[in-house]
Amino acid sequence: MQSWSPVPLSPIPGSAPPLRLYDTASGEIRPTAPGSTARMYVCGITPYDATHIGHAATYLAFDLVNRLWRDAGHHVHYVQNVTDVDEPLLERAQRDQDDWVVLGMRETALFREDMESLRVLPPEHFIGAVESMAEISELVGKLLASGAAYRIDDPEYPDVYHDVSATADFGYESGYDADTMRALSAERGGDPDRPNKRNPVDALLWRMARPDEPSWDSELGRGRPGWHVECAAIALNRLGSQIDVQGGGSDLIFPHHEFGAAHAEALTGLHPFARHYCHAGMIALDGAKMSKSKGNLVFVSRLRADRIDPMAVRLALLAGHWRADRSWERELLAEAQDRLAAWREATSLDAGPAAEDTIARLRTHLADDLDSPKALAAVDAWVREARTRRGTDPQAPRQLRAAIDALLGVLL
Ligand code: ZN
Repeated sequence: MQSWSPVPLSPIPGSAPPLRLYDTASGEIRPTAPGSTARMYVCGITPYDATHIGHAATYLAFDLVNRLWRDAGHHVHYVQNVTDVDEPLLERAQRDQDDWVVLGMRETALFREDMESLRVLPPEHFIGAVESMAEISELVGKLLASGAAYRIDDPEYPDVYHDVSATADFGYESGYDADTMRALSAERGGDPDRPNKRNPVDALLWRMARPDEPSWDSELGRGRPGWHVECAAIALNRLGSQIDVQGGGSDLIFPHHEFGAAHAEALTGLHPFARHYCHAGMIALDGAKMSKSKGNLVFVSRLRADRIDPMAVRLALLAGHWRADRSWERELLAEAQDRLAAWREATSLDAGPAAEDTIARLRTHLADDLDSPKALAAVDAWVREARTRRGTDPQAPRQLRAAIDALLGVLL
């Protein structure tokens, strides 16, 4: 499917330190070591509702990764999916007596606009599940043929499941114990209580067609895929068998990324599928978990409709650390609006203090596990000094503005 509009990126002088990121699998902050092309897969939306501020925070975190790799001279091959057929989408469409295809198209279009407004660099490949049916079912067929998958003993619906014993180190990505896996499987779309599974947490690969549900023809029989294998197929077929970063929100650690890795590794025999598994924190609203059922979602499109500058939204989210669970509050946005105004004023002056040092600090803080709060503080320090009007470097305001644009994605 169509990605969104590119964002102009101009190179900035000086050299970039290698990016270090926290990896969930090892529990350590480790350097990323991409080749000339860095490969990143970030799980996309299920388009049944508008993009909320939590989604935005996740995509902004990986946008920083993208920008820092580019600053360090790498080409970035970035792939993102759209889960445009799945339970939440079908349930929402049914509830609202909407056409699930049209609902998905509408919300995906809104997501693109939200991402464009936030100046998120677009993925090179933005791929829907529906358009990928053939390649997904082909991957399931290969897993079945290799013995990594099995058909459940159910005469009516002989669905296909991934056998967790197919790879030697299943569980390495999350590090969770069996009880936690089982609980999270039940909570996040799995079916640990279904009879005749080899292991309760074995994940669905292919769901045979049910009445009144969309389904597609395949060699497996008419049906539709599970969610984890959708991402595994889309990633493997575009990025190759090993990638640099698998990203998403922390609610994807298990089962989604654990199984994505297991599917890929069972197929290729190569370990690990991703060198880094990276997970962004969750955003609450005024201290309460944001959820559909509570009706307390803050939508990016709503903020845009209220004429909030998307650059202030971007700064408000970057004021927190990407991995920290944090709260979205009105004051956060107000502070970001003040900061944006101050940055705009200071970078419009005829002269300012030399910018090289501040640009170096920006790079160093961001390369250190995306420490955006410290990066923002480094710019704040320059802005404070510039506003005293004692700086004499006529190039500095323009240089810093360009670096803020390239590294933080904030257009002043
Ligand atoms: Zn995914």
